[in-house]
Amino acid sequence: MALIVQKYGGSSVADAESIKRVAKRIVDTRRAGHEVVVAVSAMGDTTDELLDLAGQVAPIPAPRELDMLLSSGERISMALLAMAIHSMGFEARSFTGSQAGMITDATHGAARIVDVTPVRLREALDEGAIVIVAGFQGFNRDTRDITTLGRGGSDTTAVALAAALNADVCEIYSDVDGIFTADPRVVPLARKLDRVGSEEMLELAANGAKVLYIRAVEYARRHGVLIHARSTFSSGEGTWVLDASKKSPLVPEGATMEEPIVAGVATDLSQAKITVIGVPDVPGKAADIFKIVAKSGANVDMIVQNVSAAATGRTDISFTLPKADATAALKALAGEQGEVGFASLVHDDQIGKLSVVGAGMRTHSGVSATLFEALSMAGVNIEMISTSEIRISVVVRGVDLAEAARLVHTAYGLDGDAEATVHAGTGR
Ligand code: ASP
Ligand code: MG
Repeated sequence: MALIVQKYGGSSVADAESIKRVAKRIVDTRRAGHEVVVAVSAMGDTTDELLDLAGQVAPIPAPRELDMLLSSGERISMALLAMAIHSMGFEARSFTGSQAGMITDATHGAARIVDVTPVRLREALDEGAIVIVAGFQGFNRDTRDITTLGRGGSDTTAVALAAALNADVCEIYSDVDGIFTADPRVVPLARKLDRVGSEEMLELAANGAKVLYIRAVEYARRHGVLIHARSTFSSGEGTWVLDASKKSPLVPEGATMEEPIVAGVATDLSQAKITVIGVPDVPGKAADIFKIVAKSGANVDMIVQNVSAAATGRTDISFTLPKADATAALKALAGEQGEVGFASLVHDDQIGKLSVVGAGMRTHSGVSATLFEALSMAGVNIEMISTSEIRISVVVRGVDLAEAARLVHTAYGLDGDAEATVHAGTGR
């Protein structure tokens, strides 16, 4: 008997039929003799609809009330799911985030889990019940208020429950079959991975892969939670997120063997580039610029500084950041132009970022050469480059991104034999 945590995304519980299908899957797991804890997202687009509604009654909804509102989405799905399970003759009990002991900090809309005290869940399990927990929400002890964990937060709920209950596996169900070598909507020949290392998964998630949320992957990595990302719509194996050093009796033998140099290619169209032109090339200017940008709340990703022009003693500094943060960053920089002494600002929101990720890069040479050669053959110009130990990222024109991703995918020998099946969904 294992303790299995299962997470079902919004598209898996979008309507009554889907809820019944999920209930059946949960019951099947219980029937196989396992203890089951389920974290569930709000039905379909409920969270977006609630956000929209909030926007109609208030231009900037009060954060506390917004969390009260949004957390209700998951209460609906958890109760319906428990009812559906009851009607199949099994005992199920639903719990809100606070009842489940999801203790967070007090940051409304982006709360972090600080402690999980699943006392009531353990009791319910001991009494033979299937436990259903509302995803994406928690409770702060100081303010005694309901919080939410940020969009996609149910993944984190599931992983945190798995860690706190010492579960054998955390299964994350969505409308895609697992983790692919690239987004199949961009690269049709993308292949499903049987296994991916948690470190690689972290890089993929951070660089545009949307199947798993980065905070959930981080949490799992820190607490040693085994993740199995799989599809609600098929019974096939998905992708195991685990490190080579870890073994689990649940993971099929074959899945632990795969050790490619490059695990996948991630694409991201959500960033913009800002170039600060004519920055005096003296110590302290980069610090000034990025202090201003940080204060505007922007999350900077790549940074490139040009060689300075000897004649002028000035240089240009470019950086990328989420498109949504660009306006605030530009405004903040413009406000301090005199202080910093730069000449002008250029904003470019037509960029695309392509990243190649693989733990094998540590020990293999020529990985970057393959990337650059593929891009050059495609006639794609590289505007910025950044690397980590296991990742190479380039910024290119946004319109070139898809074509570049396909060629790079082929160049690393990642192409599958047939086009991947893409369900209509969003991967959630
Ligand atoms: N319902 C929330 C959202 O859509 C949380 C989740 O789905 O994980 O962001
Ligand atoms: Mg959702």
